[in-house]
Amino acid sequence: MRSLYIKFVGMTIGIMIISGILAFVLSNSYYQQKLKPDNDRKNTTIALNIAEFAEGHPDIDLEAYLESLSAVGYQFYLVDESGDGTFFGSPFKDKTLSDSVKERVLNGHVFHGILQFPRKTFVTGFFANELQNSIGVPLEHNGERYALFLRPDIKLLFNEMHFLFAWLLVLTILLSILLVIFSTHYLVKPIAKLTKATKSLSDGDFHVEVDRERHDEIGELSRSFLRMARKLEQMDDMRKEFISNISHDIQSPLSNIKGYTNLLEKDSINPEDKKVYVSVINSEIDRLSILTKQLLLLASLDRNEEMMNTEIFNAGKQIKELIRNYQWQISEKGIMLGYSLPDTDITGDPSLLHTVWENLLTNAVKYNKPDGSIEVRIEERDESIFITFEDTGIGMNEGEKERIFDRFYRVDTARSRSVEGTGLGLSIAATIINLHGGRIHVKSTENEGTSFIVELPAKSKSN
Ligand code: ADP
Repeated sequence: MRSLYIKFVGMTIGIMIISGILAFVLSNSYYQQKLKPDNDRKNTTIALNIAEFAEGHPDIDLEAYLESLSAVGYQFYLVDESGDGTFFGSPFKDKTLSDSVKERVLNGHVFHGILQFPRKTFVTGFFANELQNSIGVPLEHNGERYALFLRPDIKLLFNEMHFLFAWLLVLTILLSILLVIFSTHYLVKPIAKLTKATKSLSDGDFHVEVDRERHDEIGELSRSFLRMARKLEQMDDMRKEFISNISHDIQSPLSNIKGYTNLLEKDSINPEDKKVYVSVINSEIDRLSILTKQLLLLASLDRNEEMMNTEIFNAGKQIKELIRNYQWQISEKGIMLGYSLPDTDITGDPSLLHTVWENLLTNAVKYNKPDGSIEVRIEERDESIFITFEDTGIGMNEGEKERIFDRFYRVDTARSRSVEGTGLGLSIAATIINLHGGRIHVKSTENEGTSFIVELPAKSKSN
């Protein structure tokens, strides 16, 4: 995390330096192209005005005139015909100026030193206090020819501005660096919090603290993280509950088996009791076997849908065969079964869907009333196929209805408990229907009956 902080600060400062260099290069080009010629033109006009004034007023003292002008912000160098020169105003730092330049100005030419000042000096050329960086104009006074070189006294004119801009620049840089350091801390802190939360999550602590109030991407990430933590907690709870349910459901038939085998070991046992004990042991073994088969099926369903062997098959025919297999059980309970099962092709895994029909049919038998009835129907409507198992059984209330698809859930009434079951059948059925892109609905009224309606797409999504 530290490195992200340093990287971010380093990158921002890097960007500031690069932007500074780019801004300098661009503004320099602007100075060279536009400001420098303007500056040269402006000072040429001023110099020509001064020369014109001096020429028009032969009676003024030229030196005193230039001296007084220098006080208002100009530096002058006045050269006479013999080549002797006098400086007025604050001194030039570099007084080099070739004789040929002086000669040319004495001969009536204007010298554009500001415009010709070397480009390599960038914008700083504006401040170069050199005699070469001046404007030279010819001047005639009282019949004498002179060359007058003029340069604005930058130090005098802009000294305060100089400091102001220098301070502005230094303060902008310093404050930017300080603000970047603090704002980066503000940006990186929630990421550090998230990392801490991830660590506590991996240690099994789901009650994590993150910045969920922020209205930005990090806030969004934190909220998603919290949702994930809650989901993981739920899954962890479900896993624990699942294990405790399995342990209980395995433990109780095992202790029954253990109890009855102990009884069978006794010599005094009569043949009738022995028969009963063996049958109980057998039914407990069957229960264990069903439970392990269902658990294996659930585990493979949970893994993925790759295990589906999808094909087109006749669901009506499949359910009729199933009913035939259970006919004796149904008749034994005195239940009337009617069906309307036209030949209907569906796309899906026949063996998995057989498990669904079997569970719904056996439930309709198990939770029915004596002399009750069951009706099984297949209907095709609006791109969907509806397979309904309707019974006139014990029914369920609203609360029970909501939970029947939970793993291991069994309605806790004496009548429900009186029949064998693991509480896994419906959750397996719902998972299988889900994998087929369908849904399973339940309608039920207590003491009146229940309908389970499986809705499958007419063209399965796997097609
Ligand atoms: P079980 O092995 O207990 O039958 P299921 O998952 O198939 O497990 O069903 C869960 C619970 O839903 C059952 O224990 C029962 O209480 C209730 N149930 C399921 N089908 C019906 C039905 N047709 N009528 C009334 N209750 C039902």
